[in-house]
Amino acid sequence: AVAPSAPVAAPLATPPQPQPTNRVGEGRLQIVNEQQEFTTKLSASLDKWGMLDKGFAYDVVSVFGSQSTGKSTLLNRLFGTSFDVMDESKRQQTTKGIWMCPSAYSSTLVMDVEGTDGRERGEDQDFERKSALFSLASTEVLIVNLWEHQIGLYQGANMGLLKTVFEVNLGLFGGDGNSTQGRTKEKTLILFVIRDHVGATPIENLTATLTADMEKIWHTLSKPAHLSDTRLTDYFDLSFAALPHKILMPEKFEQAVVDLRRRFTDRTRSDYVFQPAYHKRIPADGVSFYMDGIWQQVLTNKDLDLPTQQELLAQFRCDEIATAVTETFTLNAKGVRKPIEAGTIVDGLGSLMEQWLAAATTTFDTAASRYHQGVYQRKRLDLLTNLHTSISPLHLGQLKNAHKATIAKFVADIAAALKGPSYDFAQVVTRCTAEARDGFLAIAKEVTIPGTEWEYQHELELLDDDLKLVADRSRADETKKMVNGIERTVKKGINEPVELALSKPSTDMWDSVLKTYRDVTKSSQTTYLAKATSYNCTTDENESALKTLALRSWLALRKKLEEQTADTVVLSTLRGSFEERFRYDDQGVPRVWKPEDDLDGAFKKARDDTLTLLPIFATVKPVDSDLLPPLPSPDPDYDVEEDSLDPSTAFTLVTPTRLNSLETRFKREADAAYVEAKRSMVSSVAQ
Ligand code: GDP
Ligand code: MG
Repeated sequence: AVAPSAPVAAPLATPPQPQPTNRVGEGRLQIVNEQQEFTTKLSASLDKWGMLDKGFAYDVVSVFGSQSTGKSTLLNRLFGTSFDVMDESKRQQTTKGIWMCPSAYSSTLVMDVEGTDGRERGEDQDFERKSALFSLASTEVLIVNLWEHQIGLYQGANMGLLKTVFEVNLGLFGGDGNSTQGRTKEKTLILFVIRDHVGATPIENLTATLTADMEKIWHTLSKPAHLSDTRLTDYFDLSFAALPHKILMPEKFEQAVVDLRRRFTDRTRSDYVFQPAYHKRIPADGVSFYMDGIWQQVLTNKDLDLPTQQELLAQFRCDEIATAVTETFTLNAKGVRKPIEAGTIVDGLGSLMEQWLAAATTTFDTAASRYHQGVYQRKRLDLLTNLHTSISPLHLGQLKNAHKATIAKFVADIAAALKGPSYDFAQVVTRCTAEARDGFLAIAKEVTIPGTEWEYQHELELLDDDLKLVADRSRADETKKMVNGIERTVKKGINEPVELALSKPSTDMWDSVLKTYRDVTKSSQTTYLAKATSYNCTTDENESALKTLALRSWLALRKKLEEQTADTVVLSTLRGSFEERFRYDDQGVPRVWKPEDDLDGAFKKARDDTLTLLPIFATVKPVDSDLLPPLPSPDPDYDVEEDSLDPSTAFTLVTPTRLNSLETRFKREADAAYVEAKRSMVSSVAQ
């Protein structure tokens, strides 16, 4: 029997052993060479050994002990590795350094340390110390290999070195006293393998001696004050195994090795050595970086600060993973960039972006969450921020495109609605505005994905401004159309009454014209205001529209009056009036002049009576002077003859010169009528 937990007595029938995998003979790697340089090939070798993608599903074991105590021999037997063994016959020196080789029986990395014999040389002690520190910091199980006869001999058993290593170890795992959270308190299993166990001293005695030695070492360690109360068992578990003499009892040695191997491969055993508590929690693809970092710190002789190493590793790996993730992400986003820049609204862009982000974070989380949690979380935030930033132009682009398309549709919708035979302008604007906003908001909300700092409020405000601008412009057009319509109504309302009044000139003729004008303009204003209210016109717009309306109404009246006071019209009216008096009697019957009739007197009366009407046309002059309308002010948009707005000329229709000429022309026509009447009278006498 060997350790209580690991009986070495071999059963007669050997249970099936794990078969060597194809890694046997695939060689080993010198991870630290004679020049104390760390290899650049570790990751490549791990890959070759099929270990790189193992995540946490791998283990590390290394060995500690004096020179030529059969360490390499043991490792090769236990793990099927191919470390150099000293050739006894040649006393050939093995190559100094730290070596690594995969186990043939499980996903385990085995490390062997090779030193030189003469321990008295200071340089060698330095390397031993460094490699021991390195081993302890990077392995789950440290095999302490020693001869049975070394037990109890402090120097012989290399306990001095172990003490130094423990001291540094305490610096590593002890924490800084005030923050142990965030730092997993890691434990290491120290497995003593007692070589050339003869069996004279019971194994229990040997393990008791070793345990006592370890406790003694622990108590004499110089510990930081805040760790003075810590116990050995807070940091280490001890386990034991004994092996018979390899040369003298080869078969028993082999059997004991096979049995010891099961403790490294059979998870169901209670003495299975790779307990989770010992795992360093470094993903396999980070091992190279991590171990390199530890070695650099060993070299620079600083106390090994494992948390710092783990954080450095986490930073390095998280950055690497983030870079890979970002590449894929960028590739996805690239496909959408062109259409967005070309002004297209990409359907479902928000959910697309969420898919990319989900894929990116899932990939990142899977690979990076294995590393130091604080660093991982920080790098995750960085990654998200960067990803968000990189696609934020897509978000903005989509908003801009949606804005543009919405405005274009709004313009088209309003134009289409106003083409209809009947519509309520105010309702059209309200409906189209609501539809435009809804359409924009649907796109804006979809593309503004949660978890980002994105917003669409600003773009919505810009949209509202533009919608208002379009609506205002369209309302201005609509108002103009309305004013034109009212102007037509005004003209219709004035024309006939004016014609009628001026065809029957009388002293109160102007009163009737201006009354009509007053009523028509008043009702035009009422019509305008009723519609303008529903259009949401502003006070300024109303004021200006009413001014335009007043000006155009006045000009319409002026124009009609000018038409009705043109030479031909006035002459024709006078002629009518004269003929009525001269050629018809009081009953309206055509007169037949007889010689006894006072032709001259009748002619003179008819002519003079008619001539009194002529001055009435000259000026708009109602009996009731209140009826004279106020003159509108000029409008820069309207080219108007100044006469028609100047109070001194606006009401004058026929100038004195024209009056004279009209009088002359009228008299000539009347004279002709007189001559004709005279002739008809003479001829009737002659008959
Ligand atoms: P290392 O320097 O500790 O790695 O030792 P090696 O594995 O190179 O072996 C050194 C010498 O010890 C070799 O000549 C081995 O044959 C011999 N050796 C290996 N295992 C045993 C053992 O169990 N008992 C004895 N007495 N010698 C051994
Ligand atoms: Mg060796």
